[in-house]
Order: sequence, then C-alpha cells, then structure tokens
Amino acid sequence: MLESLGALVKSVNHTLKNLERWAAPEKAQAPLVSFPATALVVPEPLGVVLVFSCWNLPLGLALEPVSGALAAGNVVVVKPSELAPSTAAFLATNIPRYLDPKAVKVILGGPEVGEQLMEHRWDKVLFTGSANVGRLILTKAAKHLTPVVLELGSKCPCIVDQLDSKRDRQIAVNRIAGAKWSVCAGQACVAIDYILVEEKFAPILIDLLKSTVKRFTATPECMARILNTKHFQRLSNFLDDDRVARSVVHGGSVNQKTLTIEPTILLNPPLDSDIMTEEIFGPLLPIITVKKIEDTIKFVTSMPKPLAIYAFTKNEKLKHRIINETSSGSITFNDAIVQYVVEGLPFGGIGQSGFGQYHGKYSFELFSNKKAVFKRSFLIEFMFRYPPWDDSKIGM
Ligand code: NAD
Repeated sequence: MLESLGALVKSVNHTLKNLERWAAPEKAQAPLVSFPATALVVPEPLGVVLVFSCWNLPLGLALEPVSGALAAGNVVVVKPSELAPSTAAFLATNIPRYLDPKAVKVILGGPEVGEQLMEHRWDKVLFTGSANVGRLILTKAAKHLTPVVLELGSKCPCIVDQLDSKRDRQIAVNRIAGAKWSVCAGQACVAIDYILVEEKFAPILIDLLKSTVKRFTATPECMARILNTKHFQRLSNFLDDDRVARSVVHGGSVNQKTLTIEPTILLNPPLDSDIMTEEIFGPLLPIITVKKIEDTIKFVTSMPKPLAIYAFTKNEKLKHRIINETSSGSITFNDAIVQYVVEGLPFGGIGQSGFGQYHGKYSFELFSNKKAVFKRSFLIEFMFRYPPWDDSKIGM
C-alpha cells in the first residue's frame, strides 16, 4: 500500500513550529467584582495515552496521534494493527531507537492484546478502526471512566453537480477516480463511498469515470489489492445480491486468488441492499440519481452522519446549503480526501462516524486538560459576600 510520509512529516513540522504558542497559558476575562485578579487557561498533559491504530494507513494512523499526544506532554502506548504486520514490526523496532522508550512504547498483538490493554486504567484512549470494536473499547473504558476518542468509518457521499465546462468535468472526475481507486483501492475511511448526481447527468459522468479509471489503472500495480480474504469476501458479498449485480455498469470482476476487485461502477443499486446500508471500504462505487441536485441534501441527511461529505459544484447557493443543512466531520468542495492533510483543520467524525477531533492544534487540545487557573490578590475585600446577611448588606 502506498502511504504518504510527506504528510506526516509536514504535520510534525507544523506541530514543532506552533507548539510553544499552543502550550502558552491563555488569558481569560476575570469578572470585575474579583478585581484585581487574573484568569488563565493552562494546558496540562493528561498522563498516559493509549493509541489503537488501523492497518490501512498504518504509519500515519499510529504516528499522527502519537505525535499529538507527545506534543501535549503525555507518555504514549501505541498498539499498531496486527493486519499490517511489517509496519507494526517496523514501529516496534524503530520507535525505541529514535524516541525515548520511557515516553513511547509499542505493544504488538491482535484483538486479545487489545482487550488486555483495555483492562488497565488510561488517561485517554484514541481508537481508529471499526464501529464494532469501537463499541467494545467504549464499554471497557467505562470501568475506569477513561475518556475515549473514536475514529470510525462511514459512508461518505459525493455530490456531483453538472458543472459547465468539459475541463471542469474532467478535473472533477480525475479527483473522484483518484480518491476512490488510487488510495488503497477505496480502503480508506474518507474514501468516496457513493455518488449522488442528477438523473440527466449520470450517463455523462459514468462515461467520464469509465475512461478515466481505465487510464488510471492501465498498469496493475496502480491498484491496491484487498487486505485479506475476510474483507475480499465482504466486498464480493455485496455483488452477490442479484439486484446489485444487475446495477453494475462497469467492472464487477473479482479474483480471490490475487485478492483483487476491478474498479466497479454501479448505477442505482437498491437503497436497502447491503452496499447502500454498510460502509463499502473498497473499489465499488454506486451512483445514485436524483431528480434535482438540491434533492441530494435530503438524501445525505437521511443517512447516518458521515466522516466527510464531498461536493463538486460551482453553485455557491448549493455550497451554502450543504454547509448549513448537513452534518459531518468535514465537507470538501471540488476535491476529495485531501482535507485529511490540511493540518490547520480538525479531523474526526460525528455521530456514528466517531467523536473527538485531532491533527495539528486539535491533537494538542485533545490530549491536554485545559486547567482553569484563577489568581486573586489580597488588595480588596468585599465583606458583603459573608454572612450574616442583614438588611444593610443586601441593600434594603
Ligand atoms: P478493527 O476495528 O478490526 O481494528 C482496529 C484496531 O483495534 C486494531 O489495532 C486491532 O488490533 C484492534 N482490535 C481489534 N479487535 C479488538 C478487540 N476486541 N479489543 C481491542 N482491540 C481490538 O479494524 P478494521 O475493521 O480493519 O478497520 C476498518 C474500519 O476502520 C473501517 O470502518 C474504516 O473506515 C475505519 N477507519 C477509520 C479511520 C478514521 O480515521 N476515522 C481511519 C482508518 C480506518
């Protein structure tokens, strides 16, 4: 799998550059009755943080939260995913070589090790992975009242407006196809899950997607394979539904031996089929048509709140409505996935896509306790605050 190390290095450099400012006590307004006084918000480390990472971006999803937790002054235990064993071994070997082993520890293992770790008391747990395991983590954390951050998955919709020029349409399709098929073959939490488009524009969009994906995957190494048999089977099962199979307009072939699935486009699979009710997390791309582009908003709000919403449009009124009438972890106009590497933006989900936001300054805040500090002096004393409160004190 191809993973961008540049984004991770950029993010760490951004933290190094800004850390002093983020860590500085912040002045708050002190009430006049307490004059002279100073009110401050002082960030303090939480203590010991546990990070569970996922296999699909195995370095970034481990090191991005680790760097945020360390920047905020915590010590960290990280449990990489056992499903990316080479990266897990790499982290276990190299973290102790380059970072203080008293500050960061890597623990290797699968679900059973994860469960054992959750028997302990932590000051915060950040979990990236599936909703099912997230639920388990949350239940176990309740025993010690441990605060938990859940970074889960969802069905990220992509609204595609007609756009007026050939050039804009091609740029939109390049970005959609790149985000869907060239990043881990769709096995990314912020991958486009399905497209929403006006009925009359769908045939044009499909033709453009077909020609573009053919170009992008001209050589086999341009497409990642599916992680393992379990995930391959899960994706194949979507296509085993006859109603879904009939909606395939491009691709659809699967190869269990090589664990590969062709980039596949589906037109209007039934909304009650698994492919439209579960997160896809793979190279299958359903296209759902609506009568008018504005109807896409109703569709999006009828689904659980996603990690990301994408919209390709130049229509400012539509953008405004999408921002104000939908709820999601992020909205990106005229691109997809790239919001993940904008370190000035928070990253996280809402509702069923998770809770708690990190990256950059938001990681620092996530892993800090904002301690309220109030400093008074002995200069002035108002006796009316103390009993006995007779009539003269309460102004009668
Ligand atoms: P998973 O939920 O099976 O595993 C994630 C981590 O939890 C791993 O480290 C694993 O070892 C650990 N784990 C598994 N079972 C456990 C248990 N019983 N107790 C404690 N720990 C346990 O991961 P998956 O299903 O392969 O992940 C895919 C999901 O992750 C998708 O839904 C995807 O969208 C989501 N995801 C979200 C983000 C994000 O940042 N929001 C990023 C990547 C993936």
